[in-house]
Amino acid sequence: MEVKQSEFVKSAVTPNQYVEHDSIEVAFVGRSNVGKSSLINSITNRRKLAKVSGTPGRTRLINFFLINNLIYFVDLPGYGYAKVSKVEKAKWGQFIESYLINRPQLKKVILLVDSRHKPTGDDIMMYEWIKHYGYKVVVVATKSDKLTKNELAKSNKLIRETLNIKDEDNFLFYSSVTKKGREDLLNLIFEDNQ
Ligand code: GDP
Repeated sequence: MEVKQSEFVKSAVTPNQYVEHDSIEVAFVGRSNVGKSSLINSITNRRKLAKVSGTPGRTRLINFFLINNLIYFVDLPGYGYAKVSKVEKAKWGQFIESYLINRPQLKKVILLVDSRHKPTGDDIMMYEWIKHYGYKVVVVATKSDKLTKNELAKSNKLIRETLNIKDEDNFLFYSSVTKKGREDLLNLIFEDNQ
């Protein structure tokens, strides 16, 4: 499946602001600066659909994009930014949780982790949280162009083991620079909707 059309629909904070529709949604989540905006832009072939952030951790909105007039991509705010206070972290948690609890349209969550680092405690919590609510996860290790073949093999093992990725979930490497992994990711995103 190729992305032929993509448009920003709206930003939301509270559930009553979410887009009303009965299509399906695929959500994207990960640490600030993990490369989420770059990934959304590169899979939609758009340069600025999602912003590429100069200041990580500033976006506190859930952004809805309509793709191919068929499914919605939901860009969730990044987590784990060091300078954020405990109060803000707690708010972020409530914010994401209200989305995960209230969203029957949500079919799959794309969890982004940095291929160069061991997944953090926040990444593990996020994976477990998504599983707890019963969603399928695609773990995407970003910035893979920065690793050698040898390093990719090590990273593959480390990420799978650290997150304890379940058999029903997928894992792949991605590069927004070379677009490696793009086709596989698109297939996983659209597989439930053909
Ligand atoms: P976000 O905060 O998760 O939305 O992350 P961004 O998409 O804004 O990316 C954070 C930084 O990582 C930016 O400087 C990007 O240019 C860089 N980046 C993102 N994806 C890649 C990638 O696949 N390869 C490389 N080399 N850099 C990337």
